Amino acid sequence: MSASTDFPSRLIEGYRDFLDQRMPIERDRFRELARRGQSPAVMLIGCCDSRVSPEVIFDTHPGELFVVRNIANLVPAFQSDGACHGVFAALEFAVQVLKVEHIVVMGHAHCGGIRAFAENGPPLAPGDSVHQWMSMIAPAVERAGSPGQKDYLTRLEQASISRSLENLLTFPYVAEAVQRGAVTLHGLWFDVETGQVFVRRGDVYVDVLAPEGAAASAAAD
Ligand SMILES: [Zn+2]
Repeated sequence: MSASTDFPSRLIEGYRDFLDQRMPIERDRFRELARRGQSPAVMLIGCCDSRVSPEVIFDTHPGELFVVRNIANLVPAFQSDGACHGVFAALEFAVQVLKVEHIVVMGHAHCGGIRAFAENGPPLAPGDSVHQWMSMIAPAVERAGSPGQKDYLTRLEQASISRSLENLLTFPYVAEAVQRGAVTLHGLWFDVETGQVFVRRGDVYVDVLAPEGAAASAAAD
């Protein structure tokens, strides 16, 4: 098989591995998904960061995760202004058509979007879209403490997750689905360095593998 020379060779190589190794295992699943459509139970809203791939972290199969990724895993507050909103369209489809049972907002350590907001430096690119997008988390800043504190960026990353979870409830159909128990919201924070996943319980983050009721672990200590 010859490949276009300007297409990234790394992707060709990975695709060959997919055909050789994963496709034989997943073939029946793909056929079934093509026949009856997708019905994932989980919607995950994550960051674009290339180190934080939900399908890799949770070792999921095709059809299991409905994923939206944007800079710093943000969910804007609901508004009906007639404009095009990517997160809104995905959320509406996930909740009202696919009827997902869980919505997970997953933030992570060393998030460039969060750092750009915290440092409030010069534009990262001429259009300054990152700073404009990140201004959405301004209401969450107070919860992160003062910028001089230890682990301020971690606290800001986690406050931002909380903000997105709150904003999810501004969507009337999400609030209604949560109210009747059809949908559950979750906040996760991924430690890029260790691979640990922490889940938000109340106002603290605990190791996702810790039993319910376990004391808070060291996600922000
Ligand atoms: Zn990020």
